Amino acid sequence: MDWEEFARLGADIAAWGAAYHRALPDRPVRAPLTPGAIAAQFPKAPPETGQGLDGILSELDEKVVPGLTHWQHPRFFAYFPSNATPASMLADFAASIMAQQCMLWQTSPAGTEIETLMLDWLRQGLGLPEGFHGVIQDSASSATLAAVLTMRERALEWAGNAQGLSGQPRLRVYASSEVHTSVDRAIWVAGIGAENLVRIPTQGPLRAMDPDALRAQIASDRAAGYVPAGIVACTGGTGTGACDDLRAVLAVAREEGLYSHVDAAWAGAAMLCPEFRDLWAGIEAADSLVLNPHKWMGVQFDFSAHYLKDPAALTKTLAIQPEYLKTHGKDGFVNYSEWSVPLGRRFRALKLWFVLRAYGLEGLRAVMRDHVRWCGDLAETLRADPRFEIITEPVLALFTLALKDASDADMIAFVNRVNEDGRIYVTQGRTQGRIVMRFTVGSFACTEEDVRLAGDVLKDLAD
Ligand SMILES: *Cc1c(COP(=O)(O)O)cnc(C)c1O
Repeated sequence: MDWEEFARLGADIAAWGAAYHRALPDRPVRAPLTPGAIAAQFPKAPPETGQGLDGILSELDEKVVPGLTHWQHPRFFAYFPSNATPASMLADFAASIMAQQCMLWQTSPAGTEIETLMLDWLRQGLGLPEGFHGVIQDSASSATLAAVLTMRERALEWAGNAQGLSGQPRLRVYASSEVHTSVDRAIWVAGIGAENLVRIPTQGPLRAMDPDALRAQIASDRAAGYVPAGIVACTGGTGTGACDDLRAVLAVAREEGLYSHVDAAWAGAAMLCPEFRDLWAGIEAADSLVLNPHKWMGVQFDFSAHYLKDPAALTKTLAIQPEYLKTHGKDGFVNYSEWSVPLGRRFRALKLWFVLRAYGLEGLRAVMRDHVRWCGDLAETLRADPRFEIITEPVLALFTLALKDASDADMIAFVNRVNEDGRIYVTQGRTQGRIVMRFTVGSFACTEEDVRLAGDVLKDLAD
């Protein structure tokens, strides 16, 4: 392909993208499909000869778009959002064009320095104190894995990487049952073992880890010969938005000399708004934290912001320097591949730059404030209808609900009925031992009218 054709197709793709987004509100949110239908449209074998890309956009429309669940749909109320604002799409296109490999400072000085700067801009926006150093990870799961590996190596005095885990003392990591399953997987992958992820009971309206139970568990583990390594706390758990009392939990971490990590993957974005920061009061005492601008901040996937007090503990865990990766004469520059499990890294910082430039902090705050308000209004509307009950109160823009006197099977049937209708998309969850409907507002395309319509759909289909 020559660059003239590239420029022509690039413009066509932008026009196609604008049309796709304009048509979204009229499409069902979730693809109505039979498994295998999409793949069946394609030949079973690859083409032997190149065919060029003429007509590829109509093939996208015919073969691909009907098989999409539209994550950018204004009435996507399922999971958590994964917003891609137009500014971040353009940044991702530009990043693809320059195709930087940002593993070392010298392999992309601009990629590295803009990453440092953007994460510092974001730190300021979130009201985090100086002294938190940021790095972009592909996902919150990766950031949490990096944190758990750091806990492990720190507790073993850096013997795990060198000697392996057999023969080492058994480690313990503490979390509530409200944390995301990425914590479980990090524990498995780090070789700590699921039995050594100890669940601390929760209490209160935010389902927060009980700090006294945490302290007692650590003491009894020490007495039994375990080595407590770290604590993973959450701000905005995935199921119902649970928030640990960070002041209390991080005080225990400090007293006990444990590494602390806070998972704020979804709720962290809302901390751009000072009025929501009570939910993570005490965060400044954390050793590390993660939040996903790729959820609720409009920064196209993938983009997780991982902040650390002491990057040296992480690089001591993950850095490896064969000769070809040494940067002779360039010491003093940060090489971000030493902060993550993958070596190669895309130029992701560009997306945050474009988004912050396009919206400003105030623009982003306005979006999240609207979502929180509309979500609260919907919870009140449903509470006033005798057919519904609110099971967990709104935390930011997430609440759970159920039909009065509904069994688990009734609730699954209700969620399916709503999703098959197609006007909105929601998911189920489990809390307090029962199946509930999760409802979260978070699409950047969403309007107050869309949330009102969601209320109408739920009421229409409740009987
Ligand atoms: C979404 C989510 C994650 C996982 O995020 P990825 O970036 O997809 O790994 C982790 N923790 C919480 C609380 C989440 O909501």
